[in-house]
Amino acid sequence: MSDTSKFLPFTKPTIDEETIAAVTEVLRSGWLTSGPKVQALEAQLSEYFGGRPVRTFNSGTCTMEIALRIAGIGAGDEVITTPNSWVATANVIIETGATPVFADIDPKTHNIDLDKVEAAITPRTKAIIPVHMCGLPCDMDRLYAIAEKYKLRVIEDAAQAIGSSWKGKRIGAFGDFASFSFQVNKNIMTGEGGCLVLNNAEEVRLAEKYRLQGVTRSGLDGIDVDVLGGKYNMTDIAATIGLGQMKHLAEFNAKRAALAKHYFTSFGNDFEQKTGAELPVADFENSNWHMFHLVLPESVNRATFMQQMLDQQIGLGYHYRAIHLFSMYRERGFTDGMFPIAERIGKQIVTLPLFPAMNTEDVERVVSAVKSCLL
Ligand SMILES: *Cc1c(COP(=O)(O)O)cnc(C)c1O
Repeated sequence: MSDTSKFLPFTKPTIDEETIAAVTEVLRSGWLTSGPKVQALEAQLSEYFGGRPVRTFNSGTCTMEIALRIAGIGAGDEVITTPNSWVATANVIIETGATPVFADIDPKTHNIDLDKVEAAITPRTKAIIPVHMCGLPCDMDRLYAIAEKYKLRVIEDAAQAIGSSWKGKRIGAFGDFASFSFQVNKNIMTGEGGCLVLNNAEEVRLAEKYRLQGVTRSGLDGIDVDVLGGKYNMTDIAATIGLGQMKHLAEFNAKRAALAKHYFTSFGNDFEQKTGAELPVADFENSNWHMFHLVLPESVNRATFMQQMLDQQIGLGYHYRAIHLFSMYRERGFTDGMFPIAERIGKQIVTLPLFPAMNTEDVERVVSAVKSCLL
């Protein structure tokens, strides 16, 4: 039975005792920064992504920024992305000196609308950053057809999509750059962290330089700096958490999918019609069920709804407010009404609790609370 007196957050990491012991070992070893554990995690991730080269970083955000730098993107270039994401997705474009260009989202999938991407391409467009929202992949065939037609790089913001797939192929195992986040809320985590799937040895060389101050080493005491790099390396402490999480990735994702399925069953077929709320796309082929979203009808005030759920000891998230309506983006000329679908979703979306340690009773508790608010 679900304990209704207990607070249910929208997400929570699952960490086994073996991982806690392994982290303790690392702390005792005296080697805390990037070392053998980082190498082991990169090797496992590379195997996971079909043998493609992978490098780890200390956030999903810097992972995307480094991909942009490797692609040579900077001042004077335009990069097309979605207004419906965590603000990091657009911030990294500005960070490189390039200009973010938004294309509105699809009302059902909440992923970037590829027709609108194509319409936004100019001679200055250099790359597309699509987001696989909640782990539901974008149309990869269409995305890469556009990239090929207009000679654009793709940096997949796959922060939420580890273990997702497209037509039987794993996200990250094909395509151009794929950037993953291991921030604590993601399907597997390292506390904070990320990884980039790359295309070749030259990109790996650049990734390693941008990751650590632009440094190249040779021999015992050879060192040079020929580009401006940052301080983006992952620690062995974080990598050890990641290695412990990798063992459970398939099981975590299977549990998420089972709980998501139970959400649909518990809401029932007439829920959308009765309430005017929208459930997510019921994709049990491709999605890793990073989040379970509910779009509230426009007659419902989201903050009021969130408070009513909190009163029933249920925590919700909202992922995400439309990026272009933040003050810093308004200062760059973006205004209300430019991307109406992302704006509506940004105001009305809530994230329901979904994490591997939940059980079916927890799902039922959430569903009855939602129904008590909306019906
Ligand atoms: C989490 C997330 C990021 C940022 O990752 P960090 O590891 O927090 O830097 C970027 N984009 C999306 C879609 C995310 O969910």
